[in-house]
Amino acid sequence: MPLIVQKFGGTSVADTQKILGAARKAIRAAQAGNQVVVVVSAMGKTTDHLVALAKEISDRPPHREMDMLMSSGEQVTIALMAIALESLGYKAISMTGAQIGIKTDSSHTKARIRSISTDRMRTALNAGNIVIAAGFQGIDDDGNITTLGRGGSDTSAVALAAALGADECEIYTDVDGVYTTDPRLLAEARKVAQISYDEMLELASLGAGVMHSRSIEFAKKFGVTVHVRSSFTDTPGSLIVAAPESDAPVTGAAIAKNEARLTLIGVPDKPGNAMRLFARIAEAKIATDMIVQNIGQEGRTDISFTVPGNDLAATLDVLNINTVSEEIGAEQVDYQKNVAKVSVVGLGMETQGGIAEKMFRAVSQKMINISMITTSEIKISALVSWSDAIETLRAVHSAFQLEKTPSKLNSPLHSPASNQSASNQSEWSKKPVKPELDVARLSRMEDILIESIHLDQTQARITMPNVPDKPGIAAEMFERIAEAGIVVDMIVQSCGRNGKAIITYTVPRTMLDAAIDVTKKLADTWRSDEPLYNPTIAILSVRGTGLRSHTGLAYRMFKTLADGGINVNVISTSERSISITVNNAQGEQGLQLLKKEFANEMI
Ligand code: ASP
Ligand code: MG
Repeated sequence: MPLIVQKFGGTSVADTQKILGAARKAIRAAQAGNQVVVVVSAMGKTTDHLVALAKEISDRPPHREMDMLMSSGEQVTIALMAIALESLGYKAISMTGAQIGIKTDSSHTKARIRSISTDRMRTALNAGNIVIAAGFQGIDDDGNITTLGRGGSDTSAVALAAALGADECEIYTDVDGVYTTDPRLLAEARKVAQISYDEMLELASLGAGVMHSRSIEFAKKFGVTVHVRSSFTDTPGSLIVAAPESDAPVTGAAIAKNEARLTLIGVPDKPGNAMRLFARIAEAKIATDMIVQNIGQEGRTDISFTVPGNDLAATLDVLNINTVSEEIGAEQVDYQKNVAKVSVVGLGMETQGGIAEKMFRAVSQKMINISMITTSEIKISALVSWSDAIETLRAVHSAFQLEKTPSKLNSPLHSPASNQSASNQSEWSKKPVKPELDVARLSRMEDILIESIHLDQTQARITMPNVPDKPGIAAEMFERIAEAGIVVDMIVQSCGRNGKAIITYTVPRTMLDAAIDVTKKLADTWRSDEPLYNPTIAILSVRGTGLRSHTGLAYRMFKTLADGGINVNVISTSERSISITVNNAQGEQGLQLLKKEFANEMI
């Protein structure tokens, strides 16, 4: 019998009428021939109110007691949901996280799931019950109630779906799906029929978060099909799957407003500098993003990165104390307030060229200046000034025609729950039946997973120092390069000295001469310095799931290499990979060191 997990968030269970509405959705799924597990959040803003109550008494309530308090919200909803189902004539049983057997570690208020036992749920399901599970909570080895972090019910739902080998996990929420960009920012945003886990993770981390990032990591690790849809209508939403049936190179665009950019100018280019810098910032609990280290001159390099705007002052404090000192030895710290990061995300980028160029062109046509660029396999991000952010987003959204449905996606949405009968599942039944996951695999459910550590020795690096920092430069450069038939891999632009930019990119070694040619001509027209290049670099990439939510991974990577005396040149990070370039001669050694360091996390 197919099994489906349905999750209802706070707004979807905000009052008893809505709880009854959610109960009817569960009943419909049961009538369609599914076993049903319902996961619920606390009603409406209950969790916020509970937190506020604690704060009325104490500024620093004990975390254990906060979990005891906050978990009560979900306990109310599960009982009411079970009562609702019984009143509509269906058998239902509610269970807390502890009753189900959702085991977590002991980090109160941000616990991670370790294992889930399915026995009790299975018994109840097989006896004909709809099982109602409290989201957001678990229990540690000592029997203490824990919670998974705000918004954690999504993670509970996907985790239960994974543990039960469910056919689908439906996330009912107050939006009706995943959009190409935030519809509140751009009216032309389109609801996507399908999106991949990787794309969703990138978008979620960019703040386009319909869902808790950790829940998508789970879904990806265990291959759970997630269906994000509206609680208040019956229209199909968006499916989050491994490989969507689309040929569009770009699936979504997002904007992170209110960022600040910092640049350390003239950092001695020697092993360990990047690592020390980011260790200091991490100690101050500041999240860094868009880290770009560019190729320097005369043994010195520039490191740029962004932080949330609110953290600018704190970051400057850290930098002033540590970085300009002997420890790191930067010449100068430069920063820019009120910048925004505009990113495009798409799996198709891995196979289709010309995406970066198209993005830069769209931005430059609006005469908007890009001050920093980073790329990863499936994401390109550009930093622009805050006042240009929406215009940039609009330009990019339209350049990739995100408002139009991509061509290969003409198969209608399907899901076991929305089908009228269990037998009417032609599309669906093509899906291989998933065997129940073994306990061993589940025992490290939320650990970081490294899929591969890769050494690429086919690339060469070119750097254009001191290019004019004005609109259209990157567009022109990558357009010329594309015209010459050169395939570009990593692109990194950072702010250099005196308002000039530095652009570094990598190309296959076989195309280096052609690339130097193009770049030299551009340097002539722009009257900028001659390009620098390195014909033999190595790119080391660590790829996996949970790289961002497990902070400290980048730090371990830099530290491992620094301890081995390996200098890191260009850095680029994303949700699923961290890539750096090193000297070719040190590539193999770097690979071995990283493999050893991450041996325990490899799948
Ligand atoms: N009730 C919890 C919160 O408000 C969990 C959730 O809704 O996902 O954060
Ligand atoms: Mg929520």
